[in-house]
Amino acid sequence: MRITVVGTGYVGLITSICLCEMGHAVTNIDIDDKRIAQLKNGRSVIYEPGLQQLLENNLKERRLFFTIDPRIAYAQTDLIFIAVGTPENPDGTANLEYLQEAVYAIASHIEKDVIICTKSTVPVGTNEKIAEMIKDMTPTHLNVSIVSNPEFLREGSAINDFFLGDRIVIGTEDEKAAAVLQELYAPLNTEIMVTDTRSAEMIKYASNAFLATKISFINEIAAICEKVGADISQVADGIGKDKRIGSSFLKAGIGYGGSCFPKDTKALVQLAGHVDHPFELLEAVIGVNNRQHTLAVAKAKEAAGELAGKRIALLGLAFKPNTDDIREAPSLTILKMLIEENADVIAYDPAAVLNIQSIFGNEIQYTENINEALKDADLAIIATEWDQIIQFPLVQYEELMKTPLIIDGRNCYSLSDIERHSITYISVGRSPYA
Ligand code: NAD
Repeated sequence: MRITVVGTGYVGLITSICLCEMGHAVTNIDIDDKRIAQLKNGRSVIYEPGLQQLLENNLKERRLFFTIDPRIAYAQTDLIFIAVGTPENPDGTANLEYLQEAVYAIASHIEKDVIICTKSTVPVGTNEKIAEMIKDMTPTHLNVSIVSNPEFLREGSAINDFFLGDRIVIGTEDEKAAAVLQELYAPLNTEIMVTDTRSAEMIKYASNAFLATKISFINEIAAICEKVGADISQVADGIGKDKRIGSSFLKAGIGYGGSCFPKDTKALVQLAGHVDHPFELLEAVIGVNNRQHTLAVAKAKEAAGELAGKRIALLGLAFKPNTDDIREAPSLTILKMLIEENADVIAYDPAAVLNIQSIFGNEIQYTENINEALKDADLAIIATEWDQIIQFPLVQYEELMKTPLIIDGRNCYSLSDIERHSITYISVGRSPYA
């Protein structure tokens, strides 16, 4: 089976390379010629653990091909996965411009029967619109099947998630297309659910909205813990042991970010509003998360007073560890606020410095070395729980900083470890230690 993947972003590139690992030949197309040139040269365009090696292997095995030419990608292929971005519009709805362009290019170039599978996260009803668009544009003798196949991978563990996901959702009314995809995914040994198209589209939004709700819920509990003298780590542990609740996504902190939760929650609020159902719960979840993004700077001001001229080490820039992705990362809000306060910021991240630099330029300083970030700093703010930060010896904060004051937005350290040091430590949902 000839497979084409549209988009070389986090979802597209991972899908292409993992399908190659399963033994398939895959053509990965993008409209960005620089990305394609870099990938053809064997250099990954995203940071994802393990990805670079798999890219090199599959290029060498001649299973993986990159192109910007839609004729090469679409004319003779059997199966197309669309994985282009669906960012948010200013009003919170999903921007389907890239998707429409991709569908237009596909419809203009296919020459044989094909299955088109949408991995991009799209509002309910979008795959029906894709089907209409294809029908209007392609010769009647061509049989084109449309499938919704939402993606659940998590950046930072994306390869593992591809091979060991919790479920695969195939949403289609076309039994033959469903059978082809079931066969394709069968070697993964992951539970496959076949649903109708609209339900598949909704499963993706509902999953992300539920996870975001868990995070904002625990962050609200953390805020109350701080006021009543309870410890959020113990509370989360206690509630997470209840199997009906589960322990994942109960880590209090400065809020979720990334390319999915923020935009998908807003898109679902919009979707609900368009069918006259104000999604008040999800609106509150989003509001709580926006507040969390400002929490670290509020705590820094409370602890250190005026921030103007203070040297501040911002540790962690990516929206989560093991990725270079900074889309909607709390660090963006933190940096904007610190710059407004006229603080002197040095930002550390092991993977995302270049991405942050492309936004903030020389307004701040950058480093890929924690020691350098902490040297002579008045305070440190932890925004991402990278292993490099969790394992960084606390004694170094004492030795390197001008005043060892840590605002830990990710609860990286246990209070019992902190107590052995002369550090002022302010975390989330736990008593401050001074
Ligand atoms: P991304 O922005 O990293 O990559 C999108 C790529 O598509 C870009 O390289 C872009 O140049 C390319 N592109 C745009 N229009 C194109 C076209 N017409 N033809 C070919 N290529 C085109 O996006 P992403 O993070 O991979 O997300 C893709 C989709 O998957 C989104 O809908 C997202 O919501 C969803 N998703 C993302 C994740 C994630 O963790 N990133 C997880 C699950 C689902």
